[in-house]
Order: sequence, then structure tokens, then C-alpha cells
Amino acid sequence: MDQVVDRAILREKDLVKFLAQRTPVVETYLQNLTQDPQLGPIPQDDRYFLGRMDLSDSIDRSDFLADKDKDKEESMEKRLLGSLTGKFKFQYQPLGFSWMIYADRNDFDRQHYDFHYARREFLGDVRCLVFDVMPKKDAGRGRFVGRIWVEDQDFAIVRLNGTYNRPSRNTYYFHMDSWRLNLIPGYWVPSYIYSEEGNFTAGAKNKLAFKAQTRLWGYNLKLGKVDDELTQIRVDSVKDTSPDAQDASPLAAEREWQQQAEDNVIERLERAGLLAPDGDVDKVLQTVVNNLLITNNVELPRPVRTRVLTTSPLETFSVGNTIVVSRGLIDVLPDEGSLAMVLSHELAHIVLGHNLGSQYAFNDRMLFSDEGTFHNLGFKHIPEEETAADKKAIDMLKASPYAQKLETAGLFLKALQIRAPQLSALLQAHLGNSITENGTVTRMAALETSAPALDWNKLDQIAALPLGGRVKLNPWDNRVEMVKAQPVAITSARDKMPFEVTPFFPRLARYNANAPTGNSTTSTTAANQTATPATAADAAPSH
Ligand SMILES: [Zn+2]
Repeated sequence: MDQVVDRAILREKDLVKFLAQRTPVVETYLQNLTQDPQLGPIPQDDRYFLGRMDLSDSIDRSDFLADKDKDKEESMEKRLLGSLTGKFKFQYQPLGFSWMIYADRNDFDRQHYDFHYARREFLGDVRCLVFDVMPKKDAGRGRFVGRIWVEDQDFAIVRLNGTYNRPSRNTYYFHMDSWRLNLIPGYWVPSYIYSEEGNFTAGAKNKLAFKAQTRLWGYNLKLGKVDDELTQIRVDSVKDTSPDAQDASPLAAEREWQQQAEDNVIERLERAGLLAPDGDVDKVLQTVVNNLLITNNVELPRPVRTRVLTTSPLETFSVGNTIVVSRGLIDVLPDEGSLAMVLSHELAHIVLGHNLGSQYAFNDRMLFSDEGTFHNLGFKHIPEEETAADKKAIDMLKASPYAQKLETAGLFLKALQIRAPQLSALLQAHLGNSITENGTVTRMAALETSAPALDWNKLDQIAALPLGGRVKLNPWDNRVEMVKAQPVAITSARDKMPFEVTPFFPRLARYNANAPTGNSTTSTTAANQTATPATAADAAPSH
């Protein structure tokens, strides 16, 4: 076992070195909790952080959401914890949500820690050796204390669970559960971190109760510096040799121009790690879009495409003829009808010609840092266009195979309406229009009236799912796929957890070059606790 520990220490140093050149995207979504007599702990308010991590010397982050118009930027801690920072001072290092990607970046060794073998255990398909790790007496403050899981072939750490020791009077250390995935040969890459504090049992007096999910992705992205853009040279090798090739007519030129703007934006978002590459999830979305188009006899001059935004906040927007839906929104939708509702709104913008803005056809407008994405791109519509799109969308839905499936879509909006005041961070759109305004659901709100009454106690009524249950994002190459998790029966209203974050429990597996997107099947325990929501993956063209 001593040799295993030595090996694990070496492998950890290896990983630190290997990732030193990487700048993954890091997202933390936190829900502060309050106790509901019926539903247990439910969100009271929420916080969101999206940034890029620099893993070189220390662990630094840059923020996608910083307000460039303000001189003083909100720190990550303030953004996540808001007024709580008045009560607790959060020590910057090694504390935080994303710090626990390593146990101890600099001093993870036998001089600073004692290791005690606990047992063997399988995590998914991977056999692990489990060790309890304690800092030595004189090792100083802020050292890791907890448990590590070491896989039994290369002895890499695949999971860390614990906190940091000896907080000083005004600091506070979170508890964390940190998971790594074997997405490339030889390395287990930090991917998910779940944090939770607080206790609602009788008599407990907690000043702080929250749960938070941190996700990392985009390890394989290039550094998104403006300089990189300027040195990129593209060579098109395909020559148009058709005999009647001519200059484009004015209308054809206009459409080419719009296509160019659309392609520029999609490519730029993908390079920033905010858009997943075209993949399996898009086939599911595309099927629903096609169903809507065909049954409404809509013919468009350019094809409609779909893509997945890699982030959690619930948002949609469209760029030209490309509809973009966030990973978080797909996660919480209960069924195919509600997915059709979401897509139909953006499709309506396209059909009504609302997306003809073509300023992004000029390539200089794509020259900004990744963190500048939200300041440099935007696809918001004016209120009149929003109203028109909702109306057109409902017309299209009523003529489609989804006409009979809109009750759940309405229920989803009702559930969203109940939680909206507490989930302003989750509902804040960053590139398009938000689904709510000032805590009120505005998007497709007409569907609420035809929906049945929302009843948390009705166990077969699933209005909205927890986050993380549908879409699996590969942290290395950003590909997304639908989760194929077995549904777990809901046994009480507390199992529903609409829009909530839950712990991670990925099924670990070793790297497999033949696997379609990495190799690990990710699912969260809670995400499986949905009765039998028809997955959009079953979306079948109805004709
Ligand atoms: Zn809209």
C-alpha cells in the first residue's frame, strides 16, 4: 500500500504538470436553500459563475460575466455568495468551489500528509483503492482532509471527497466531492465537483445552507486570445466548377451574406467552448424542428440547424437559421412536447424573418477574447418580435403532432413560474432573451392557461426535472450526448426537485478509444428519479 500511495502522489504531480497549459471553462451554479415543510430544502436564491481557469502556476480564473462598464469587478466569491460574504470571509486559496480539482496543488506528499488504507471499492467499472488522507500536525492551515479513490492500474486519483482543515476564525471551508473522468489515455481529468453545506434537522442552527455544482469542460480548447485569430489562415480547397457558375443575384448574395454571419458566430461560440460541436443531441432537436416545419408546410431558403449551448442557465436564441438551446434547459424539460414548445419559439423568429441581422458577416467583429463573448455577441429581440414569435409558435404547435402534448409544456411553465423568483441566476439569459422578466414567465405564457393544476403531491405529474439529467457534456472535447439512465421511481414530492442541483454520481469507466464521446456514462442520482418522462431521444417523426 505504501507503493500505491507513492505512485498516486507521482501521478498527481504528473496531472498538475499535464494540465498546466490548459485553460478549461469552469461553471459553478449554487442554490441557497430554505426549508419547505412539504418539499424539504428548496432553493431560496441562486448564484452563477462562468469563467475560464488558468491551471498554470496557481489556479486563476477569468470571468465571462464581469461587467466591463464597471470599474470594480465582482469577485467570484461575491458573485456566488453575495451578502453571505458579510458573515464569512472566504479564503481565496485553496478554498472555493473549483479549487478541489487537486487535493493540494503544491504539497501533496508524505511530508505533509498521512495516508491510511481504508478498503477496495468499485466506482462504476473501475476498481479503486480507498485511502483516508489526514494532514500532519505541523502541515499548516488549509490542507486537504478527507478520502481519495485511486484506480488500481495506474494509481491515478479518480475521486476526492472532503474539505480543508483548520479554518481560521473568519474563514469557512466547504465540503466537496470531486470527480475525474478518464477521457484521454493516461489521465483522469477533473470534471465535476459537488459542494453542499447546511443541515435542516430539528435543532440545527445553520447560518449557511447551499448546494452547488461545478463543472469543467473545454480542456482541449485553444487559448482564446485575439492574437490567435489574426494568425489563422483558412484555405478553401473546393472550387465551384459548375458550368453555369455566375455571380450571385442580389437576393442570393443577401442570403450568402447572412449564412456567412451565421457561420462566423457559430464557429466563434464553438471556439470559446460555449457551443458543443454538432452531434447526437442535435439530431434529437432537429427531429422536433423538422416535425414542426413539415406539418406547417414551411419552406425556408436555407436549412434550419440546431446546436447546444454548453452552459446551465435556461436560455435559447437563434443565430440566422441556427437555433441554440442551453444544456441546462434541455436537462429540465419534462418531455418532447415541452422541447417542441422551446424550439417552436425560435423557429417562429426564423420563419418571421426576425433573424436577418448580418453585422457578424464582417470577420473583424469576431476578434475578441473568449471571456468577451457576452459583451461582443447578442441575439436579443425587441418585445414586439417576442410577442409575434410566441403567437406564431403556438399556431405552429397547434398544427403539429405536438398539439395533443402541450399540457406538460404548460405545466413546465407553471412550475417555472413558482420557482422563478428564487432562480434569477438560472433564468438570466446571456446571449438571447430571458424566458422570464422580473420573476414572471413571459415566454409562451399562453400555454399555462390550458395546463392542469400543478400538484407537487401527484407523483406521476412531472412538470420539470432536476439539472443534469439529460445532457452529458464531455469535458475534454465538449461533445454532448443524451444520457441513457434508467428511470428511478419517484416515491415522494421531495424526489421531484424541479430545477435543482443534485450530487454527481458518474459511472466511471476506463478510456475507450472506440466510445462515441469519451467513455463515462454520467448521471446524477437525482436526475434518474424521474418517473417515465418520454425522452426527446424517442422523438419520432410522426409521418
Ligand atoms: Zn424570442
